[in-house]
Amino acid sequence: MKPKAAIRGLPVYQPGKPLEEVKRELGLKEVIKLASNENPFGCSPAVWESLATEREFFAMYPEGAAPDLRRELALHLGVDEARLIFGNGSDEVVQMLARAYLEPGTESVMADRTFPRYWTLTRMEGATPVEVPLVDGTHDLEAMASAVNERTRIVWICNPNNPTGTIVDRDELVRFLDRMPEHVLVVVDEAYYEYVTDPAYPDTISLLDRYPQLFVLRTFSKIYGLAAFRIGYGIGHPDVVTELDRVREPFNVNRLAQRAARAALADQAFVERCRRLNREGVETISRQLHEWGLSHFPSHGNFVLLDTGKPADEVFQSLLKQGIIVRSGQALGYPTHIRVTVGSPEQNARFLDALAVSLGRQR
Ligand code: PMP
Repeated sequence: MKPKAAIRGLPVYQPGKPLEEVKRELGLKEVIKLASNENPFGCSPAVWESLATEREFFAMYPEGAAPDLRRELALHLGVDEARLIFGNGSDEVVQMLARAYLEPGTESVMADRTFPRYWTLTRMEGATPVEVPLVDGTHDLEAMASAVNERTRIVWICNPNNPTGTIVDRDELVRFLDRMPEHVLVVVDEAYYEYVTDPAYPDTISLLDRYPQLFVLRTFSKIYGLAAFRIGYGIGHPDVVTELDRVREPFNVNRLAQRAARAALADQAFVERCRRLNREGVETISRQLHEWGLSHFPSHGNFVLLDTGKPADEVFQSLLKQGIIVRSGQALGYPTHIRVTVGSPEQNARFLDALAVSLGRQR
């Protein structure tokens, strides 16, 4: 047996341990997971009720094109329905983009460090990832534009960037788009879009008409609290959507996910509340770090990458023993940082108490 050359040596995704297993191992009743940028407030209560009506359809294949959700989301965003494509998480839309636009001999440009799937999926297609270092945790769009050549097919801009939480603003993005040659698709991954409150953050939807190469990714996994359902989407030029439809699995987005997303979308009061509580959480964490003299990247998302000044894995283990799971920066390219998801006010307080113990500080 001989797998294709492009996947030789690729890392296998390592998920975190299931929460129940961690609890058993540590002998703790309660463990707080702040490792995967999930919503600590769950999802809108309307989601649960919406699912009951789906029971009679369990034996049927879903409509992968998600017609009802498409109509409602198009209305919500103010875009034409033909501009939308849905995926089994926005992860799957990243995969569709790579499948449709990359092949051996082509390149895709991304930041170093950013969401790792751009790199992996580029490699899977036998294409070459070109990584451009972040500057102060922020995309260096000048350098990224200079890295584009005739082989480039995709530029990935993660905005806010995972793991740093930084953003590129509207002016920077527009200047970048103006420099892009026609053969390059610019994918702006806005998984954390709804959390951003900075007025300089680009309204990418308003740029779609002007830039046919612009393609935006969003998800129901984060602020909508539906990570378990796996549903995300892309917004772009209808011709790009058509290309992605060619490589899309026929029944890729399941029926319950579509129903859940519709109910979640209709409850914008829930989204607003989560946005406000998240911002307050970021501020609470930032304030304490400032008092301790610890630096962190200015986060516009629902997570904070902070410098502990100690080996990240040690701090990770120490927090774990206290029942708090975060992400060690070791594997993210930040050997003294941890990335913590902003939790509920109680969870944030528990995290800061535990961090004080781990770092020998006073609270
Ligand atoms: N993009 C970014 C930047 C992310 O952080 C994530 C999730 N961690 C995703 C995409 C994928 O999200 P999902 O597949 O759950 O929609």
